[in-house]
Amino acid sequence: MPQPSPRSEPAHAPAPLPLPLRLLRVVANRLITPRMRRVTLGGSDLEGFTTAGPDQQVKLYFPRSGQTEPVLPAPGPDGDVMRWYASYSALPEATRPWMRSYTLRAHDPAAGTVDIDFFLHGGAGDPDGEGPATRWARSARPGDAVGMFGPSAVFATPVDPGSGDWTLLYADACALPALATVVAALPPGQRAVAYVHVPDAAEVQPLPTAGQLTVRPLYGDTSAVEVVRADPLPDGRPYVWLAGEASAVRALRRHLVEERGVDRQAVHFTGYWRRRLTQDDAPTTEDLAEARERLAAG
Ligand SMILES: Cc1cc2nc3c(=O)[nH]c(=O)nc-3n(C[C@H](O)[C@H](O)[C@H](O)COP(=O)(O)OP(=O)(O)OC[C@H]3O[C@@H](n4cnc5c(N)ncnc54)[C@H](O)[C@@H]3O)c2cc1C
Repeated sequence: MPQPSPRSEPAHAPAPLPLPLRLLRVVANRLITPRMRRVTLGGSDLEGFTTAGPDQQVKLYFPRSGQTEPVLPAPGPDGDVMRWYASYSALPEATRPWMRSYTLRAHDPAAGTVDIDFFLHGGAGDPDGEGPATRWARSARPGDAVGMFGPSAVFATPVDPGSGDWTLLYADACALPALATVVAALPPGQRAVAYVHVPDAAEVQPLPTAGQLTVRPLYGDTSAVEVVRADPLPDGRPYVWLAGEASAVRALRRHLVEERGVDRQAVHFTGYWRRRLTQDDAPTTEDLAEARERLAAG
């Protein structure tokens, strides 16, 4: 699951780009809702940093306990990401940094910072528990170090939320940072419906947009697919963006393609986490089937 996988090799590979690997420091860490922490990261490695479009995904590297900085192999001169990843994987487990996927919530070029929003999963009564990324975000202080790989166009499927007659979005709490960037990229007047699946009303955030957005909040254990199934959908060809717990995203995608006739090529979907499994755990049979479908879709 965590291994970077380039989408395709260009026919004539251009000169390798430097690896988008950076060591960043916490500038600020604040709660924006009871269960969402916004961590602002900065540092000289962000000099000249640019982003392209919404839904910019990164891998973050967190120090192991007892370390003050994540141990990151130096990128080789050839910019070869697979070679770098092999060096990372070869680090002894006790020192290899935890690697988790996150989304750039914002980039402030003037301040030289990026924001990452961490949903604080786990806690009392949550059978899934919390993991190293969430633990880190709960207590990160100014000056703390974290590694960041990406964003990189090589590993991303471009998101174009205005490419349909209307737009259907689904995000659970940990995908809300990405959804906010997608919503912010809606063309003026674009009709959009966003199903926002969060623990409770305190986690609903304002979603500024130029689009004509309807937000449908869903709370707790509500079945997202049942809600969508019961909803009439606007006429026309939708662009669909789905992100959140893997089985919920799968069920929504199946429903939209198989029961509502949505073109599967118009559905951008990503499983962000899996129940009872960490991001270090191996892919399940369903994860592999999904990866094959994604490759087949091109
Ligand atoms: C492309 C991409 C972008 C992402 N962007 C963001 C982002 O911007 N902000 C963000 O908060 N998350 C984001 N995520 C989700 C995040 O990577 C996962 O939630 C990750 O598992 C958190 O790592 P952890 O170390 O806290 O937990 P892990 O060690 O991975 O898991 C520990 C336990 O927690 C459970 N768990 C993991 N995530 C959740 C969750 N969200 N809700 C409930 N239980 C959970 C697992 O099932 C497991 O039992 C993104 C994921 C992907 C794939």
